[in-house]
This record gives sequence, C-alpha cells and structure tokens, in this order.
Amino acid sequence: MELEALLSARLSERKREHRYRYRRVLSSAQGPRGVVDGKAMLSFASNDYLGLANHPKVTEALTAAAKHCGVGSGASHLVNGHSHEHHQLEEALAEFTGRDRALLFGSGYMANLACITALMSRSDWVLEDRLNHASLLDAGLHSGAAFKRYQHNSVGDAQKWAERLSGKQVSGHGMIVTDGVFSMDGDVAPLNALSDLAQSHNAWLMVDDAHGFGVLGPKGAGCVDDMGLSQQQVPILMGTLGKALGCYGAFIAGSDVLIESLIQFARPYIYTTATPPAIAAAARAALKLVELEPQRRECLNQHIAYFRREAEHLPVTLLPSHSPIQPLLIGDEESTMAIAQGLESRGILVGAIRPPTVPNGTARLRITLSASHTTDDITQLLEVLHSHLST
Ligand code: PMP
Repeated sequence: MELEALLSARLSERKREHRYRYRRVLSSAQGPRGVVDGKAMLSFASNDYLGLANHPKVTEALTAAAKHCGVGSGASHLVNGHSHEHHQLEEALAEFTGRDRALLFGSGYMANLACITALMSRSDWVLEDRLNHASLLDAGLHSGAAFKRYQHNSVGDAQKWAERLSGKQVSGHGMIVTDGVFSMDGDVAPLNALSDLAQSHNAWLMVDDAHGFGVLGPKGAGCVDDMGLSQQQVPILMGTLGKALGCYGAFIAGSDVLIESLIQFARPYIYTTATPPAIAAAARAALKLVELEPQRRECLNQHIAYFRREAEHLPVTLLPSHSPIQPLLIGDEESTMAIAQGLESRGILVGAIRPPTVPNGTARLRITLSASHTTDDITQLLEVLHSHLST
C-alpha cells in the first residue's frame, strides 16, 4: 500500500475507535477562564496547579531577563549556551529539594529519556510501574536494559520482579522507576516501600515528581519531601517546571556524581540547544512564589477537598486521589468523548483521556484543579457534571 493510503487507513481506524485526538487553539493566557477555539470556557484541563503561568512576577522576570539575555540560548549547555540564569536556577532547585545538585533539561520527556538511557545499559535491569508516564516507559525500553513493568503501586509485584531481574544479572545494576503522583490517576506511589525495595536489591530509585513538585509537601517540594525521603533513599529525583511552576522545562536532582554523569553521558542533554535563559529566570521567580506564598497550596487543597466531597455523589467512579488531578472513570471511549463534548457545549473544558494513554476500558475525564479557580468555578463544574451525568 502507498504510504499516503496506509496513513489514511490508520487515521480512519483511530477515528472509528473514538481515539482520535484533536488540538484546540487557546487565544488567551493560561487560567481558569480562557478563550478556546474562539469560545469563552471555564477550564479544568491545565496543569497550572498554582496559577503561576500568568502571574505578573513570573511574566516580569521573563521579560526582564529577555531584555538582558535576548531570547535564544544560542547553543547547547556544553558548547556556549549555559547562562548565569540557568546556573542560578539549578542552584535554587538543588537547595529547595535538599539535593546536592540539580541539572536543567528542555522538558520532562527529555529529562527522563536522558537520565535512564545515560545510566542504564544492556547488562542492567529497569523495573517500572505499569502506569508510569510514557517518557519513563520509552526511556526504559530505549536503554537496552532488561525491562519489566510491575502492577500499579504493587510493592509485592515489584519485589517479585526485582528478585527475578537481580538474580539473573551478573554484572549489572538495577533501577526502580515510578511516577510520584500518577499523571492520569492522581494517586501517589508508595515511595517508602519502594525505597526499601530498591536498597535491598542495591538498585537506584528514580521518582518522577512532575505533578507533585510545587504542590505536595509542607513547602511544596513534592511527594519525596512530603514523605521525608533523603537523597540516599531517592537518589534520582525528577521535577518539571511546566506544571505547578507555570513555566517550561524540567530538572533532575541528586548527588554530585549523578549530575556529573548526566552532563558527561546523557545524549539528550549534550546534543540539544539549552532552554532560553529567560525561561529559567521566570522559573526561578515562580519557585520563589512557591516558597513565599503557601496560601496557594492551601487554597488548592481546599478546592480538592470541596470537589471530592461533592463529586462522591456523582453517578460515576471518582478515583482515589488527593492531588489536583481528579479523574472520573467513564470506561469506554465513545461515552467519554460524548460527555466531554456535552460539558464543552456548556462552557466547561476537561480532559477526555482515552487509550493508549490509559489502559483499555478505563477512559476517563481528567479534571485538574488550580489555586486560580474560585469556589464558584468548582460549584459550576459540579452543577454541570451533575446535570450531565444524571441524564
Ligand atoms: N512525567 C510525567 C509524570 C508527566 O505527566 C509529564 C507531562 N505530561 C512528563 C513527565 C513530561 O514532562 P514535559 O511535559 O515537561 O515534557
């Protein structure tokens, strides 16, 4: 079959399965009230959990740094692109997370790919939660190491696989990898038990805290800090700057040897242009707001509690999550799309998440709450959900 015909057939199949993804065009800044495809919408579909993406201090930091440093970084970090702004942000992130050092990456996808492929190779083993983010799963497969996925959040299943994998390997070492907060479920990994498991198999534990960083823990340093886990217990910590921090990019934090190893061996770090320095300046301003304005996290937690209290009465399953990610399980793709479109016609935007992003039969509405929502916004969401799901 000709390539065009083959691709058209694949696209038609996606549509038939109700798995076709459409992009919308946002013509306003991030925030609860935006203009999406030309229509005013109340959005519950953003990862801007603290409402920092359009905060004046963050946008001012961006423009001030752009005036000083320009836009493009000009080169990779190792050639001539590593600026004072990047360096200061790395130092601030290391201090905030209580790690020796931090290293910036263009995105979370790149950070995960870079880290796992730089550290693991054919003689090693990588064990991952089966609901880990795609970038972690891709990285594990791409590393060439023996690769297994354990049942979601099952330490028993992880232990079974760790024993098998570590028994087989003669020279290699192991890595256990998990999301901190699961991106499509909102629940948190059993990090204490996974850390013990990793240590008992002489393996590293890597935690991707993309959705916990900025939100969880007494100061917003994420789920690892919330559980009081040290650098020794979680030697590899990944966080993103594009979600609660409202900017763009990601980092890996850990020991000096870890960070130097990534600088020397991580190809997705070495061979790519550094992030614009003004983005780093904006992220540093956002990090300061995370530290100085705990009321944002308090407000978010109140929203989460209010939403959960009321959503218990909806005629669909509310997944057990205490994070800003509040999924409503629908099941099949067609109904999920129909409900999301119904909500959209009432001016409410939520994520319609379908396979292959989530397992078959578990399509869902992914509702994300933000400190920038008001209680009235959430009441409105609940009213529309009630009227729509009860018909
Ligand atoms: N890890 C997790 C758990 C995520 O949810 C995401 C983004 N959806 C990423 C990594 C990738 O981060 P980024 O968007 O910065 O590439």
